[in-house]
Order: sequence, then C-alpha cells, then structure tokens
Amino acid sequence: MARKFNFSAGPAMLPTSVIERAQAEMLDWNGSGMSVMEMSHRGKEYMSIAARAEADLRDVMAIPDNYKVLFLQGGASSQFAMIPMNLVGDKQSADYINTGMWSKKAISEAKRYITVNIAADTSDSGFTTVPSQDQLKLNPDAAYVHYTPNETIGGVEFDYIPDTGDVPLIADMSSTILSRPIDVSRFGMIYAGAQKNIGPAGLTIVIIREDLIGKASAGTPTMFDYATHAENESMYNTPATYSWYVAGLVFEWLKELGGLEGMAAINKRKAEKLYAAIDASDFYANPVAIHARSWMNVPFTLANPELDAAFLKGASERGLVTLKGHRSVGGMRASIYNAMPEEGVDLLVAWMQEFERNQG
Ligand code: PMP
Repeated sequence: MARKFNFSAGPAMLPTSVIERAQAEMLDWNGSGMSVMEMSHRGKEYMSIAARAEADLRDVMAIPDNYKVLFLQGGASSQFAMIPMNLVGDKQSADYINTGMWSKKAISEAKRYITVNIAADTSDSGFTTVPSQDQLKLNPDAAYVHYTPNETIGGVEFDYIPDTGDVPLIADMSSTILSRPIDVSRFGMIYAGAQKNIGPAGLTIVIIREDLIGKASAGTPTMFDYATHAENESMYNTPATYSWYVAGLVFEWLKELGGLEGMAAINKRKAEKLYAAIDASDFYANPVAIHARSWMNVPFTLANPELDAAFLKGASERGLVTLKGHRSVGGMRASIYNAMPEEGVDLLVAWMQEFERNQG
C-alpha cells in the first residue's frame, strides 16, 4: 500500500508514524483493554491522555502559564461567534483586518453581535497581500483586534505580528498554527480548527489569556462561554476524545522532530522550493506579493486553464492528489502543512517541470 501525497487544504495529511501509532494502540490502549474511542472522558486513562496532550502543546508552543488551553468543538467557524460574544465586554466595537475569504467570514459573523471597524482591507489587491503595520487604522478603544495570519484560500500570510498596543490581538491560526515558533504572549487569543496542522477534524484549540475569560455578554449560551470550558478543563461536556488523543500524538511527533524550530526549517525549505519552481517558469504563476506568500497554502495557475485537467490527471498518476484549487481562485492549490513530506514537494516540482516541457 502506497500512501498518497495529499495536498488537501484540510482535513489534511497526518504524519504516517502518528497514524501507525494510533493503529497499534487502536484495540488496546496501553494495556487498558479498550480503544481510546471507548474510554470515558472522566476515567483516569483518558484524563492522563488529555493532560499529556495539553502539556506537550504548552511545551511545543512555549505557552505562558497565564494562558488557558481549551480543547473545544464546533470548528474555527464557531469561534467567529464566540469571540464577539465573549470579548466585546463593555466596549462597543472591535477592529477586524480583512485579508481574504476567512477574514470575511469572521467579520460577517461578528457583525451579528457587535460593531465592526475594518482596520485594513486588501480587497483592492484581489487579496494578494497583507497590510503593513502603518496601514492599520486601529481604534485604541476597540475591544480587540482580529486577524487571519494565514488565509488558506488566497495563500496569503502575514510576515509580522501586528502591534495593537494594549488592545488584545486575536488570531485565527487554523492554517498556520505549529508551522513555526511564535511568541504567544503577543496575543490575547489564538484559535485553530485541528484538521490541518493539529490532528483530525472535530477538535478546535483555543489558547486564551486568563484575564479575557469571564466577560461573556448576557445571553451567551453556556457552551459558548469560554469560562465554562476554562473552569472545567474542557470537560464540561464530552469533548472530541479521539481527536484530542491523536492531536497529542502529533504534539509528541513535533517534539521528536525538534519542536517548532525544526518544523519551521523544513516548512521554509518546502515552500521555497515550490515558489522557486513557480517563479522560474512563465507557465506557472502565483499572484501573491513575495513577502506575503504562505508557507502552508500555495495557489498557482497554469498559463492555459484548459490544461488544468491534464495536469491534475498526471499528478494523480504520480500519487499527488487533491491539487485542484479553490473554486473561487481556480487553478491549483498545494497545501503543504507540517505532515506533507519534503519528498511530496520534490515530486510535485518534478511533475510541474515535466508537464511544462511536454507543452513546449
Ligand atoms: N479559518 C481558516 C483560516 C480556515 O482555513 C478554516 C477552514 N478551512 C476555517 C477558519 C473554518 O474552520 P472550521 O471548518 O474548523 O470551522
């Protein structure tokens, strides 16, 4: 059985060694005589799995002690509502930076609850860049500033962390978390759906500074209040137990690999190889400003879109799958998250070069 190189934007590849470990432990976790899927979330075995995963994530990301790590459900999309409900407090409004499709979704959901001030908007560029710090029109009285460090569809990534002074910075890191080291203390809150760099779908991670918890607006549902989950170690209700366990295996894998420094070096190399191949050719193109190019999601188009189907077919024959671009962008998109081996990128580059030569 040959595993494919799966360039899906998410759910995405997991490290093979992680899946093998889950397989080995599938029927009988650590002599418990049970699969992790069958365990009570309140039993001592599962509690040890959950605690270990949190400790490893804290270690890998160097999360300061005054932050809570929550293991929630509902996807990053639920956070689009939970954030305004929990964080607007006594303020009237929040600042949002609009850099693409996912920012827009966060903005339209927030508008249902609060006044949204657009601090910057790169739609004029077709969402192919990020605003610079001095282009941000920040309101010092905002409850928080929300942005999307990596736009999964546009392939646009911030190359800096916005400075928002005393206003808490909130980041949707769904498609970039764990791709490189970050200074968590710069953020009020970080959140991410698991299904790209963390583990299986069904789990959403929230890393939140403690002083931001406990200010939910009146009427916030119990399950949508961060305090509920913070006070109950993310076990107020039944969490996504199996996804949490697999995420823990991914965190262990990251530690073995040298943590986020090690991961960043590999990710940078993979991305540079792919962009170099695109830039070296007149046949392939990526529209994103060089400084704003994502390490994780690399959209590219072929000079003639009529060749897309043939490109995808040949790729698939070489084990390179799920390269079709998002319907809003067209062309191709190679998502090269942490678990995509460098070999997958090398094979993709080789196929791109071969395909181009065959056109000539
Ligand atoms: N934000 C970003 C940046 C994403 O890439 C995605 C999923 N592709 C989401 C939010 C939505 O995540 P979920 O499907 O977990 O709700």
